Amino acid sequence: MVGITNYLRVANLACRKAFAVLAAIFLLLPTAFSHAAQDEHPPGITSSTNVILFIGDGMDEHQITMARNYLYGADGAFAMEQMPVRSSVRVHTLREDNPNQLRYVADSANTASTLATGLLTSKGRIATSAARDADQKTILEAAQKKGYRTGLVSTASLTDATPAAFAAHTSHRNCQSTKSMSAINHAVGKTQQCVPDLKAHGGPGSIAEQLATANIDVLLGGGMAFFNQPVEGSAQDLPSILDMALNHGHLMVKNEAELNAEKLQVAPATSKLLGLFAPIHLPVEWQGEQLRLAELMTTNKHSKAIFPTPFGCEKNPHHQGIPTLANMTGRALQVLSHNNNQGFFLMVEGASIDKQAHIRNPCGQIGELRAFDQAVTLGRQFAQQYPNTLIIVTADHGQAGQIVPLPETYQAASKAMRMAQYPTGHYAVLKTLSGELMAVNYSTNSSPQGLWEMHTGTNVPAYMEGPGLDEIPALIDQRDINQLMRHHLKLD
Ligand SMILES: [Zn+2]
Repeated sequence: MVGITNYLRVANLACRKAFAVLAAIFLLLPTAFSHAAQDEHPPGITSSTNVILFIGDGMDEHQITMARNYLYGADGAFAMEQMPVRSSVRVHTLREDNPNQLRYVADSANTASTLATGLLTSKGRIATSAARDADQKTILEAAQKKGYRTGLVSTASLTDATPAAFAAHTSHRNCQSTKSMSAINHAVGKTQQCVPDLKAHGGPGSIAEQLATANIDVLLGGGMAFFNQPVEGSAQDLPSILDMALNHGHLMVKNEAELNAEKLQVAPATSKLLGLFAPIHLPVEWQGEQLRLAELMTTNKHSKAIFPTPFGCEKNPHHQGIPTLANMTGRALQVLSHNNNQGFFLMVEGASIDKQAHIRNPCGQIGELRAFDQAVTLGRQFAQQYPNTLIIVTADHGQAGQIVPLPETYQAASKAMRMAQYPTGHYAVLKTLSGELMAVNYSTNSSPQGLWEMHTGTNVPAYMEGPGLDEIPALIDQRDINQLMRHHLKLD
């Protein structure tokens, strides 16, 4: 079995040299934390023990490089790339039909489950074991038990795989809400249907219901359409899952203005914050000029390749009124840290880096990666005031976007070979912010009818900052990340 890992070693090392990197962090970082946290709630209890896990969905090195080149040029760096510790992370996925074997391409459900539980599972599963469907305890649940506050923030629906895996247990990610629980899922076998998870069958209910009753202090993201569905078995569609959340002490906000309202007084001991800012996923921040995406390569009647013209990125007007990921992260940090002796566990997901790569939208994914890094910046600033904060920035799995040669390179090769040379799949030429050209391509599914790019099986990065990170191996796996976080919070 692949690497049942160095995690014990990592944990032991973490123990020994707990605060050694802090001096370096103070020297490296600017001084201001967000106005929200600094002005309204000057730090009172800065010795609390905190973990912030940032997950860039689909954010492998290639997606990072593409966004970095576009935004900052070849010599630029994201805030996350300036963190002091860096490792490469292996991604493991069990087969549902034979959990003794692995697949080499993952999905967000099984990888988020591994980050959340420290255990491997199969594609589609939400914190349950491959084939056996046993619940796997998450770090969020263990943290709650020890008195830590908890939070989940995402640009996706809160019921989507990544946030779900930290606080729900279902056989498949599709078990999001009441309506999907009884539907037959033809994409998976009978061991991953949702029906056994129905409360009527002794299961835990839909993901939305589980989140609504999980006593999570901060839930910010999309998914109103799922929370607006009736609670399983409720007569005449009432109460809804949202009613259920409100009855469990959640205070509800639904747009940027409400999230940022000065009058929003959340006392975490008595009420919890639930923000639902879109029916499903939040609109992305950027789009291509004239809504352009990468285009399927074709040839003309002389068999010459037709290359698309270059384009740049612009703001998506549909993001107006929607909080940014940094905005949600800032509010979450404020609520979680206010008068909190113990500390917290917070997971922040940049979900649409992945979703935009799936639809071959380079500007969409670059804008989301930029927004994700801005949230990371806020986390790093928070850690300046709360130095016992462990920050880990990682991805769940690889994506399809890659940087490939410009048209001129293919054209020169065409001349030399006397036949058309061009990339397979979908291709775009971007005008970067510094005026250079960068060509990108998506080619995991080149069928003209193929609407959707597939994930890829590369390692993903982990950038880390905080106590206990000396001597992290150059190669770890996703279970090690879970162990590092558990160790920092002193959980079982
Ligand atoms: Zn995906």
